[in-house]
Amino acid sequence: MTAKLIDGKAIAQDIRNEVKEGAAKLREKGIVPGLATVLVGSDPASHKYVAMKRKACAEANIESFHHELGEDATQAEVLELVQGLGADPKVHGILVQLPLPNHIDEETILNAVPLSKDVDGFHPLNIGALAMKGREGDFIPCTPNGCIELLDRSGTTIEGANAVVLGRSNIVGMPVALLLVKRNATVTICHSRTKDLADVVRSADILIAAIGRAHFVSADMIKPGATVIDVGTNMIDDATRKSGRRLVGDVDFAAAKEVAGAITPVPGGVGPMTIAMLLQNTLRGAERA
Ligand code: NAP
Repeated sequence: MTAKLIDGKAIAQDIRNEVKEGAAKLREKGIVPGLATVLVGSDPASHKYVAMKRKACAEANIESFHHELGEDATQAEVLELVQGLGADPKVHGILVQLPLPNHIDEETILNAVPLSKDVDGFHPLNIGALAMKGREGDFIPCTPNGCIELLDRSGTTIEGANAVVLGRSNIVGMPVALLLVKRNATVTICHSRTKDLADVVRSADILIAAIGRAHFVSADMIKPGATVIDVGTNMIDDATRKSGRRLVGDVDFAAAKEVAGAITPVPGGVGPMTIAMLLQNTLRGAERA
């Protein structure tokens, strides 16, 4: 079997076009959707991610307000900045790029983002709402929501499916598992202490792999015909590349695509969805405002 490729790049572009249209309509009513980005320190990867997010905003008719503080910024300075953005009516979403420098308490800073502007969806009350029947929360975290969009837009039936989530982190594994339960899947969460993990994974109609271990999921762990969403991003050595390295997922894609019914590649699967969902959340924030 050769699996259907779930093209995250194309699906993310569709969502970005939808957001662009929605933002244009809001602008006609005099509301300019705005995302504030907060970057503390000099981590090159963080600078790259924020630049990508700001470029995506510009393309989607969303204004971005960028704030950069040095590595030596105090917690009080970061807090004051975030609180100011929380009170600014032009800002509909606040994105604090993580990780923050070690001397700054991440939880204190994230808790200062008002719920109504928590476009990352990481606030405990937003995550808590995912676990409660009939509750929506203000925002759904971007990468988990991106996984669900990939399932929906690739025609995978979630209701009644046996879904296995590999990983239980606050930012991916746990929220994606809660979203799948909300959509009436039967969900098993696996982690580093799970017994007979391969057998559990083999029962999955839907597999979400989010553990950060290159090629951890082999073809023989996949149920024939299953839909596989690979969240993992891992760099491995590759002498054929100029950089000497290559990005791969948690799934052994080349072998798994011969067994799965549908599968996301890495890169080009979940990755592009995260920014698309951030734009969608910012638009929602602006629509509510
Ligand atoms: P994390 O916080 O390190 O969590 C990893 C999870 O995997 C933990 O729950 C851990 O179990 C579990 N795990 C680790 N090794 C395992 C093993 N050998 N067997 C079973 N379970 C194992 O990672 P994360 O932040 O969720 O990220 C996961 C991956 O997704 C990473 O590669 C990350 O780069 C990627 N990611 C991609 C995007 C994107 O936009 N594409 C966004 C976010 C994350 P315990 O809880 O028992 O320790």
